[in-house]
Amino acid sequence: MTPTTRPGIVHLVGAGPGDPGLLTLRGAEVLARADVVVFDHLANERLLDLAPAGALRIRAGKSVGHCTLTQDQINHALAEHAAAGKAVVRLKGGDPLVFGRGAEEAAFLRERGIPFAIVPGVTAGVGATACAGIPVTSRGTASAVAFITGHQAPEVSEAADPRSRLDWPALAEFPGTLVFYMGVTHLADIARRLLREGKPAETPSAVVESGSTPAQRVVSGTLGTIADLAKTSRVRPPALLVVGDVVTRREDLAWFEARPLFGLRIVVTRPREEAERSAAALEAIGAEVLIAPTVEILPLDDLGPLDAALDRLGEYDWLVFTSSNGVRRFLGRLLERGGDLRALGGVRLAAIGPSTAEALARFHLRADLIPPSFRSESLAEALGAVAAGSRILLARADRGRTILKDELGAKAQVDQVAVYRNADAEDLPPAVLARIEEGSVDWITLSSSAITARLHALLSPEGRRRVGREVKLATISPVTTATANGLGWDVAVEAPVHTWDGLVEALAARVASSRAVPE
Ligand code: SAH
Repeated sequence: MTPTTRPGIVHLVGAGPGDPGLLTLRGAEVLARADVVVFDHLANERLLDLAPAGALRIRAGKSVGHCTLTQDQINHALAEHAAAGKAVVRLKGGDPLVFGRGAEEAAFLRERGIPFAIVPGVTAGVGATACAGIPVTSRGTASAVAFITGHQAPEVSEAADPRSRLDWPALAEFPGTLVFYMGVTHLADIARRLLREGKPAETPSAVVESGSTPAQRVVSGTLGTIADLAKTSRVRPPALLVVGDVVTRREDLAWFEARPLFGLRIVVTRPREEAERSAAALEAIGAEVLIAPTVEILPLDDLGPLDAALDRLGEYDWLVFTSSNGVRRFLGRLLERGGDLRALGGVRLAAIGPSTAEALARFHLRADLIPPSFRSESLAEALGAVAAGSRILLARADRGRTILKDELGAKAQVDQVAVYRNADAEDLPPAVLARIEEGSVDWITLSSSAITARLHALLSPEGRRRVGREVKLATISPVTTATANGLGWDVAVEAPVHTWDGLVEALAARVASSRAVPE
């Protein structure tokens, strides 16, 4: 693409305070169309997944004392890529214009005639505090809020450029909430200076560390005690210092840490295709999720048998699905070959459980049969009762349990067709393996026997020893539990409803009951 056919543009995008869900819709849109993404260390790296796979990703660094690129290099990189006709996204933590040098970058582009647009973000002073249960304004107690840089030590700021010098007496008098950014290093100086200017020592104060993320920590005290408290709790950046009466509202409003799985690190071992959605269900109730697929779902090498089965669909009375993947791939292939849903007009549909039925529903199809318990044995029994003597097509993975065919084969004519391939993952992500080995994972979720067996194979002896003890297991069904037990692992939670949601619910219930134990 030449610069003349498509002018480039730089979008300065606010990534929000940390939780990837706090990016704006516009931010997601421009990321999805980006050719180049230049990102800060404060922007959650998971947001990079929203950019096209082929987009160039440039780490701009900018953590304290560690710069991958200088500001000048960043400016030039933005300008050069945009001048070459690229859609550039400059992803910055929080809001790009709040202590973010976004205005400098925009001015640099303007000077060179390069188009830019600004996509605001949720700034930490609003987002991290909200997650800490601290309202920055409050009717009656705080009618104003000040966002202040704590970057410079109060002593240093005396000497700084008078235009950016902080007016400490005015800050001490300020009738509202003070929110200091970048204040961890100078916390003690900031507190001392405010006290010296007459701010009462008993003013409620808090430090919010890594707000909105699974690592969120809040230390509360008073202006007189907060520096020592932060020091003993070893508060680390990124963190905000909040000074004002609103801090006490946290006593009623703390909600983030109260979510059922907050503070727990949970490994999801499902195939990558399902892992993101599965992780979201855990993250929504507070867990920190590590994704480590142990098996993968792949397209078939040879579509011949599936195509042949699709051609003979009219010969079957029942079409049976044992996974949502099977549904998507089977119907996807039907449509891909130019067919449509009328090809299913004569067959009845069975789904092993609610997620499989939901996958059918997305194609406007209703399952005629869902067994009472969502597993092969139950499906075989339910089908056996209604489908004796009929012709059944099982759409399934290329490997797995053969219960259905074994149980039904005597009563009906059963054909099986593979609609996707299961392949073993070659290894676990090293970071996840290390965490399991050091026992710093709370739970591992297991949603099938194949996944369980492969996890066992991929772990080191040290990892295997931890699992089932300090690293607890939650399984989706008795079959999976039996596989885990067979490998020498104890299972702490087994989902009574054999779906992913059932597993998440059982895990949350177990955690709630253990947390409810009186101290
Ligand atoms: N543009 C950013 C701020 C950049 S300055 C924004 O609008 O939020 C970096 C400072 O922001 C950090 O030193 C810290 O004080 C604050 N900060 C950023 N993310 C934070 C988080 N998740 N929790 C607490 N403070 C955060």
